[in-house]
Amino acid sequence: MCGITGYIGDGDCSTIIARSLKNLEYRGYDSAGVALLDGTLEVHKQSGQIDDLTIPSMPNATCGIGHTRWSTHGAPTDANAHPHTDCSGDVAVVHNGIIDNYEAFKRELGDDHEFTSETDTEVIAHLIEDALADDADLRDAVEDVVAMLEGSFAIAVTAVGHEGIVAARQDSPLVIGHTDDATFLGSDVTAFVEYTRRVTFLEDGDIARLTESDVTITNGDTLVERERQTVDWDADAAEKGGYEHYMRKEIHEQPHAVRQALSGRVDELAGAVDLDLSLSREYCNSLDEIQIIACGTSYYAGLYAAELLERHADVRVSVHVASEYEFRGNRDPWRTLVVAVTQSGETADTLRALRKAAGAGARTLAVTNTVGSTVAREVDDTVYIRSGPEIGVAATKTFASQVTTLALVTVYLGRQRNAISSNEASTILRGLSAVPGAIQQVLDAEPAVRETAEEYADGDAFFFIGRRFGHPVALEGALKLKEISYDHAEGFPGGELKHGPLALVTEQTPVVAVLTEGTNADETLHNVKEVESRGAPVIGVTSETDPNPVFDTALEVPAIGLMEPVVANVYLQLFAYHVANQKGRSIDKPRNLAKSVTVE
Ligand code: GLU
Repeated sequence: MCGITGYIGDGDCSTIIARSLKNLEYRGYDSAGVALLDGTLEVHKQSGQIDDLTIPSMPNATCGIGHTRWSTHGAPTDANAHPHTDCSGDVAVVHNGIIDNYEAFKRELGDDHEFTSETDTEVIAHLIEDALADDADLRDAVEDVVAMLEGSFAIAVTAVGHEGIVAARQDSPLVIGHTDDATFLGSDVTAFVEYTRRVTFLEDGDIARLTESDVTITNGDTLVERERQTVDWDADAAEKGGYEHYMRKEIHEQPHAVRQALSGRVDELAGAVDLDLSLSREYCNSLDEIQIIACGTSYYAGLYAAELLERHADVRVSVHVASEYEFRGNRDPWRTLVVAVTQSGETADTLRALRKAAGAGARTLAVTNTVGSTVAREVDDTVYIRSGPEIGVAATKTFASQVTTLALVTVYLGRQRNAISSNEASTILRGLSAVPGAIQQVLDAEPAVRETAEEYADGDAFFFIGRRFGHPVALEGALKLKEISYDHAEGFPGGELKHGPLALVTEQTPVVAVLTEGTNADETLHNVKEVESRGAPVIGVTSETDPNPVFDTALEVPAIGLMEPVVANVYLQLFAYHVANQKGRSIDKPRNLAKSVTVE
């Protein structure tokens, strides 16, 4: 999820690795580390800033790997920072992503290996240690180990007595950089763009051996040639992966983000989820109420979750804007579960509300993106959304990850409370696993959204309507547009239009309507007619192919059932993005707004 760098060549290895780490700093991280090889292996790593990391000058080092960590398994401590080593200290591994089946390996290796971290990553180093025991070549050893790993990962490995670096990619990016006398590795081009723009992007399943002058890539049993390209990106463009803005990059990262949220947590066949929660069956059944506290986009994710929880976990749910929250519980506050939803885990309003709830004796659960954050430290339980760093101020991928994670919490509670059968749980889980592919289809339709945005960008105001699950999505769509385009935008449940907002509707107020599964689309269609008869252009975001088109523009959502509204939201994000881009707004840093709102 965070950054990988590697270098092999005659240059000043420790300086190059240190610079590459600095270049990766923009992604956000909680820990950093390096491993340098000059006959022996030197590892330096710690939590906190790269500037505080001591990277020794090692004039004889010719090979090194580095890492910036965004924790998923284990707190951001020095011991959990990468690189991780085997028992001998001769093998060093850096890793982005998640190893789903690490626990089984940790148990298996437990008696013969000494583990020094809580990470999923460390098993890789010990597995490679075993694989190297019979004199195997490092590449073969990595290949054997990678074949055993489940999950999404990019890894880089270097080891005493073996030449160069071995890198493997599975659903997490890696790119190789080439000069005449050195080879570089990066999780993105930014790591080394100041040294070279000649690059080779690895593909899923690739295992690459990097030496100073040569790169060999295999995929399965085949030796493969990947095209060597020259990118014309400067450092700024490289940070954004070639996209013009972080926001657009992050919108496009959503299939991956949702997959990460599901990774290793879902047993689709059994209809079960494992979230590592301490909520016993007994507690779940004694639960009176869930109170969700959140702000902004997280609040809308909370509204979405409330519908899911009430429907599938048979529990009463209230959703609170955190800054307005007062704990009103029953006589036994512990039977109220207060769920704090916050991307950063540092949102001051949410933290304050959480402290009120905990102070009153309620049980607390955090749904956050940030391991080790204040909220995560203060609650009874945490489920991480695993979006990876989000740099654009306007939240995008974290909404999809939050809703996905909260849907998993719903299935967990629903099963514990016997509110749904395992078959029903399987159906929900199948629906969730269809989300990444459906989002990808929407992303592929981006040119149509750009055209629509250009057509309507000059509207006086924008209205978003949707019912049930479509309502939080309408609110989120309006928030996205106002945040980054500075246009007046509002979201309503469709039925509310006639109770006031309809007075504002004219030919100059485009209306975006969400009509998918779970949004009472037939009723919303009446509202579409209401605004159309006042002359407003209507953009229908819909999963139903419409035999008699009623919309000025229809944007089609793949039919995947329950989670369609989350997929519809991706259209709204793209719409907001292209309206704002058309107006030349400061999309990643909108005026007056901050990413992590640490003031009340
Ligand atoms: N899952 C690994 C950890 O928690 C890697 C995190 C990352 O991608 O930075 O250490």
